[in-house]
This record gives sequence, structure tokens and C-alpha cells, in this order.
Amino acid sequence: MTGASESKAREAIVEHGKSLHQRGFVPGSSGNISVRLADGFLVTPTRSCLGRLDPARIAKLDLNGTHVSGDPASKEAFLHAQMYSKRQDANAVVHLHSTHAVAVSCLRDLSEEQPIRPLTPYFVMQIGRLKVLPYFPPGDEELAHAVAAVAEDHHAILLANHGPVVAGSGLDAAVCAIEELEEAARLDLLLDGRSVNELTAAQVATLQKRFPS
Ligand code: ZN
Repeated sequence: MTGASESKAREAIVEHGKSLHQRGFVPGSSGNISVRLADGFLVTPTRSCLGRLDPARIAKLDLNGTHVSGDPASKEAFLHAQMYSKRQDANAVVHLHSTHAVAVSCLRDLSEEQPIRPLTPYFVMQIGRLKVLPYFPPGDEELAHAVAAVAEDHHAILLANHGPVVAGSGLDAAVCAIEELEEAARLDLLLDGRSVNELTAAQVATLQKRFPS
């Protein structure tokens, strides 16, 4: 990526971080955002508040996840590295501890393949299949292996008792998709115990054919 595109990517990370923070998606210093470069990726620094990022201090890592420049990277940078190594179509990754998706991730007896019901077409179009991974302590090497094992087939993953990780073709797409996931989780919880019309398997299949995620 040229210098100009890299500085654009840094600005885009700052802008999205601020927007996510202002709207309550990233409490405290939680959440991390990355963008792929030709020779590695940019990722938000450890213990940084996404609402107040400095573009010049965003960490740059090579494709193996080794620090190249900037502040020390988020301890969760390996989640991003695994997505990039397994998905050639991924140019940005967003990981949040957003309230409703985390709430769903804490539910007992969660379906590993369908933790959120297909209630709206937007969720199906933007997320499609959402894979649940079991709980691991943040930064655990086993979590890296677990993500690597499913990333090829899933651009959206829900870490149990932790939160979602979503890859996209670009940063705008990844942010839109993870916001849709958070809203779908909120709707699912809001409708818990109510009688609802889920989209049928045929309706879901039609959407997935028309809008492959
Ligand atoms: Zn996390």
C-alpha cells in the first residue's frame, strides 16, 4: 500500500473508532480495528480508547503479526492476523465488546452455528453464518488456533463470553456488518419469549444466493 493509502487507512480507523465510541459500541478501552496493507496491517494500540485515537500512533504489524512501528498493538491483534491469513477477501477486521452481542455470547446452550435467529434480511445479508467459538481467556494461544480453524469458512465469529469479530472487504463493510450483528443480537434478546416469525430456511437461502456475504 502506498504512503498515501496508508495515511488514508489511518484516518479511516480514527474516524470509525470515534463513531463507534460515540454511539456506545466500545465501552472503556475495549474493541480493536485493523486494516490490511500490502506488507502487513494497521491495528489499534493496546489499552487505547477508540474514541481518541492518534493516527500516527496506530500500530503497524507485518503479516506474521510482528510489530513494525507505532504504539504496541492490541493484545487481540492475533485475531486480526488469523483472519487475514485465512481470508484473502478480508481487508479490514473489527472486534467489539458491544453489549448485546456479548450478552448473546454468554447464553447457555447457544447454537454454535446459529446463535442469533434470522429475524431480518439485513442480518442474513451482512453476516450470514455466525460461528460461535468456546470461551478462552483473552490473548490465549488456543483462541488463535480456534479462530484459524474456522476463519476460512466464516467472516463473522462470536467468541463465547467475550464478543464478535467480523472481517470485511473494506473497513466500511466490516463496520456496517458488525453494527448489523449488534442490532440483530439486540432484536433477538428484545423478542426473547415472544412468538416471532423467523425467516424460513428457504427465505434465508434466497437471500444468501442473491447477496453472498
Ligand atoms: Zn476482546
